[in-house]
Amino acid sequence: MKYIDEYRDRELVEKLVRKITSGVSREWNIMEVCGGQTHAIMKYNLLQLLPPEIKLIHGPGCPVCVTPLEQIDQAIHLARMDRIILTSFGDMLRVPGSESDLLSEKAAGGDIRMVYSPLDTLELATSNPGKEVVFFAVGFETTAPAVAMAVREAQKRNLKNFSVLVSHVLVPPALDALLSAPDHQIDAFLAAGHVCAIMGTEEYEALTEKYTLPIVVTGFEPVDILLGISQAIEMLEAQKHGVYNAYSRIVKPLGNLKAKQLLEEVFVPGERTWRGMGAIPNSGLKLRDPYRSYDAARRFRLKNKKPYEAGSCMAGLILTGKKRPAECFSFGTTCTPESPLGAPMVSSEGACAAYYRYYRTSTGQP
Ligand code: SF4
Repeated sequence: MKYIDEYRDRELVEKLVRKITSGVSREWNIMEVCGGQTHAIMKYNLLQLLPPEIKLIHGPGCPVCVTPLEQIDQAIHLARMDRIILTSFGDMLRVPGSESDLLSEKAAGGDIRMVYSPLDTLELATSNPGKEVVFFAVGFETTAPAVAMAVREAQKRNLKNFSVLVSHVLVPPALDALLSAPDHQIDAFLAAGHVCAIMGTEEYEALTEKYTLPIVVTGFEPVDILLGISQAIEMLEAQKHGVYNAYSRIVKPLGNLKAKQLLEEVFVPGERTWRGMGAIPNSGLKLRDPYRSYDAARRFRLKNKKPYEAGSCMAGLILTGKKRPAECFSFGTTCTPESPLGAPMVSSEGACAAYYRYYRTSTGQP
């Protein structure tokens, strides 16, 4: 398959592994930001191919995983209200809140529907004028433009029964928060290529200057990831910092200008709580004033109640790269994809799900 097979090419993989192995002289900790990259690393057994000096730390790049419990509880609260249809992407339905999850609420009679696009929710609102239709919007900069488009379209159509529970997060402020922790172990980042496809690389230039470390924009196939690691090692060994684009077939320095304009028009950055990381300034999106009537939290006067997190789930430590999934006592025993205790085991981008799916066939670092 063109544009896929060549990035899974065995010879290229072996060549890059040889280059990385011959170029590394000491231990380096590299964080791959995106859960999609973590899954590829586990699926293609890259941990086993890499020299022992290179330690990959799995980062917080799973939007479902970093959605705070408070917001899942708010979505559940909405789903229990009369005359509300709640929609979201599939993964969100199975993430445990404090007492329940959306799938259980659906089984108990809540009108909760899985959609593939926020625009599907607009159609639902149009065809259900007697109901309030709320989209639970979770995701990074990649999915936020489609939500912005839906909100703008709702305003254009004067659709009064549509609103959004906004839970979008922005990646660079989270990386800033990780690096500002005095005990962080990160020597370089592999930045998430799809996020940079929208936002470009400008924000990462500021980060690399502030913390003098390499940030390599990286894709999701084995050759992409090894190319990213190879470039990071080259810069680390040469004591250089800066942003390098190892995913130039998709990412342009300025990103997608139309999508960025749309985000700028509809949303404004604001403080946002990340699961396991706490409140991070300017790391979330809020609706701008002309669109605030579409804010479900405001429309339904939602309150932030103190959540309850199962004590046995160490999602916070997993999401900040301080622990690996296999170090969790519940991993694969009381916590499995069929019966998850935390979001990282539910999400298709969660690190625990990646380890559960691929770790048994891998002898990589646990
Ligand atoms: S294995 Fe389960 S309980 Fe452990 S951190 Fe992952 S999601 Fe939480």
